[in-house]
Amino acid sequence: MFQMKEFPEFSWSHSRHKLLMECPRKYGYTYYISHNGWLFDAPLLAQQAYRLKKLTTLPMFFGQAVHNVIEKTIKRYMKHHYIPTVSELEATVRSDLRKAFIDSRDHGDLWYHKPNHYIMFFEFYKHGYLTKTETKEINDRLGTCLHHFLQSKTFKELTSHPAINIIESKKFRSTYVDHIKMYAVLDLLYQDDGKYVIVDWKTGKHSTDDLTQLAVYALYVMKKYEIPLEKIEIRNEYLLTGSCHTYQLNSQDIQSLLNLMATSIDMMTTYLKQPDENNPLPLHSFPENGNPFQCNQCFYKELCESIE
Ligand code: SF4
Repeated sequence: MFQMKEFPEFSWSHSRHKLLMECPRKYGYTYYISHNGWLFDAPLLAQQAYRLKKLTTLPMFFGQAVHNVIEKTIKRYMKHHYIPTVSELEATVRSDLRKAFIDSRDHGDLWYHKPNHYIMFFEFYKHGYLTKTETKEINDRLGTCLHHFLQSKTFKELTSHPAINIIESKKFRSTYVDHIKMYAVLDLLYQDDGKYVIVDWKTGKHSTDDLTQLAVYALYVMKKYEIPLEKIEIRNEYLLTGSCHTYQLNSQDIQSLLNLMATSIDMMTTYLKQPDENNPLPLHSFPENGNPFQCNQCFYKELCESIE
């Protein structure tokens, strides 16, 4: 039986940390104000924050659709040894994009009442249409990313090493680090000849955060499966360029991550009235970052403008 919780459960993730660094007000909307916003009798602010939180952008949705088709392709290969063509994969992603486009264009009312069941592109929500430039960019990326996936070091390893054992693929996983729940959503974890390989597929450009994200995955695998760090290999597969970066972390890298986590959790705690309940301070205690460029791209802009 579903139980309504007055406050959300506290947990740490790299994306949560990045959001706090980007804008504490945005962090407040995402992790606290929107809580319970899916309930029809929740306060209007909670409902609207939840709705806005569920928006997605065309590149975000595209990334998700590519990740989904990759996950299905790998599962199918492990079961039936079938390798699809780029066109087959493209057709699946295009079908997902088309459904999302129809949701955004024709089902705005349904999305408004059930934002969890329908897709609304931020571009559509903001302007009522997608521009030719926006759709062309995604069209251009589609074939390239899927071609690079089929040619990737990871997919080649999976299809040429018969003893590979897939341990996890794209699941919402958590473990505990010093009694704090930590989430890590791994794209893929497999075991090959005594080493454990963590893979993160990227459909966007390189970012300085990519390595920290991989360190979080490595920490998760160490804790969850009690695997020594020297047996863990972490890998970014950049599908736009076809490049692949593999790393081996050392204990200093993991200590740096633990230090970052401790500082980040301390910062998060300053926004709480009662840390043991994860009961937040009032919204005005979460400062706005005041960066006009970021505000223009932000899903919550209308809330900030209406609350001022
Ligand atoms: S609109 Fe600007 S200030 Fe408001 S939540 Fe978004 S980024 Fe922060």
